[in-house]
Amino acid sequence: MPSKFLHPFSPAAAEDFITIVRAEGCTLWDDQGNRYLDALASLWYCQVGHGRAEIIDAVAGQMRLLDAYQTFAPFTNQPAEELASMVAERSPHPDGRVFFCGSGSEAVDSALKIARGVHQLRGEPHRQVIIRRTDAYHGTNFGGTSAQGIAGNREGWGDLVPHFVEVPRDDIEAVSTVMAANEGKVAAVITEPMQGAGGVFPPQDGYLRGLRRLCDQHGALLIMDEVICGFGRTGQWFGAQHYGVVPDLMTFAKGVTSGYQPVGGVICSREVCDVLEQPGLVLRTGYTYAGHPTCMAAGVANLALMEEEGLVERVPHLADKLTEGLAALQADGLIRSYRGAGAVYAAELGYDAAAARMRLLGAGVVLRPIGTALALCPPLVITDHEIGTLFDTMADVLAEAPEKGEA
Ligand code: PLP
Repeated sequence: MPSKFLHPFSPAAAEDFITIVRAEGCTLWDDQGNRYLDALASLWYCQVGHGRAEIIDAVAGQMRLLDAYQTFAPFTNQPAEELASMVAERSPHPDGRVFFCGSGSEAVDSALKIARGVHQLRGEPHRQVIIRRTDAYHGTNFGGTSAQGIAGNREGWGDLVPHFVEVPRDDIEAVSTVMAANEGKVAAVITEPMQGAGGVFPPQDGYLRGLRRLCDQHGALLIMDEVICGFGRTGQWFGAQHYGVVPDLMTFAKGVTSGYQPVGGVICSREVCDVLEQPGLVLRTGYTYAGHPTCMAAGVANLALMEEEGLVERVPHLADKLTEGLAALQADGLIRSYRGAGAVYAAELGYDAAAARMRLLGAGVVLRPIGTALALCPPLVITDHEIGTLFDTMADVLAEAPEKGEA
């Protein structure tokens, strides 16, 4: 009889779960006393590592002062104001504003609504088409499910949100064609700066700039989903800055609090805000827990800690170390290739990665299998010694892969 907990993205009948009981830095412990190197930063989110007293104390202190209070007008709170300023200041939209919610999925659905809403307010109600890319992952609410380029995640739920059109991942000409065929109807293009959960695919040179240009030419908005890339992962605060492209709307979650409390959000450009700030207009979307002071306090403390420890500036060093290790695995014939940027990579095995992932867990390393690849996305505090352990373990485990021969 499985437990009462119905796990997300898991076989519903699965029974063999590992009970994690403690975490510190990049190390996890289970209830059997086994330890693991968390080379996925939990689920792509724990930038500062686990167990950081600075965030824990800030959350506890905020709870004692004001545990929770809503932020629908006329209410606000100091941590929400502070986190909104910190996020906007680090983004390409220091004069924009930040809409808060509780997850990446909520952020994506909110951004899609805001994009369509802005066109409605501008007097272009026919602009409803959203262009999505193959292999994109945008969360699991209905908007994000419709925006996904991973077919399996879209199937089996009945009808999704209409007016989504898919283009092949790297084909800028296809975007141009869809824009031309839907002249005056495209509301937005949604893209991750570097695709993450769909397999870790960095954009081809000039691709994102091409999207920006096409959006400008055809009057569409550019939404960048920064849920994985945001908050240092690429070596800049946001992937948009790493790739030198300014989107109109940016969704974020995960790294904003390093996961210590759930927070998501949408950064809106000044031009978008100008439309929303029309006198008499009420933004009729938002969540009970938007700007939740305890969650916001976690974000403020996390960003302060990242700044203090220079974690964004540390990413080029991590990139050197991680690519060095991956190149060595490739040279030894243990992986076929690798791809990624900053502190997020996929090691391409060329055969189903599920069994290798389980053997890595047995050897004390957590990675994520995505089809035939293993994703690496360590906390930004990972030490050189821990990176050494990661690659030594991968080398040992991949050398003995019995399923390799079956590929
Ligand atoms: N968007 C992107 C790019 C993501 O990677 C994810 C989660 O991995 C989401 C949205 C959904 O975020 P959440 O799981 O917090 O709803």
